[in-house]
Amino acid sequence: MRQGSYSIGEAADIVGVSVPTLRMYEREGLIIPEKLQSGHRRYTEQDVERLRCIRKTIRKEKISIAGIRRILALIPCWRIKGCPAGERNACPAFVFHEEPCWMASEKSWECKNADCRQCLVYTACMDCGTLKETIVAFTTGGTPAFMQCDDAVVA
Ligand code: SF4
Repeated sequence: MRQGSYSIGEAADIVGVSVPTLRMYEREGLIIPEKLQSGHRRYTEQDVERLRCIRKTIRKEKISIAGIRRILALIPCWRIKGCPAGERNACPAFVFHEEPCWMASEKSWECKNADCRQCLVYTACMDCGTLKETIVAFTTGGTPAFMQCDDAVVA
């Protein structure tokens, strides 16, 4: 096992789920593992932390996978990325709220060829605490702490 980088089997063992379950989380848009040229997936410590958050949310908070997907879909990516009004109105991630923006096809503007795994919208909510803080901040008109850095744009 390479420290800090795990195969899908190792990551599944660490969080106590099966490999098909991790594949399902990926299909449902809850996580984006690193994809090697060989087609194999690698999971970092941050990915494992995200998986722990997903497991905790399902088991303790009794929120379904569809529910988690919907929560992630509500992260206002256009606000974090500072998308101009004309661009965001044409973007599926802004218009539809069924799935996280990184699942949207035909993304517009800066997102067209972006690596969502590296994007602040995806990385900012790698753990439950930050995700909760983000949702609370946006629903109360505030700005979450992770957006108070140089990478983020508050529109
Ligand atoms: S780059 Fe990807 S994760 Fe970031 S806002 Fe665009 S679609 Fe969402």
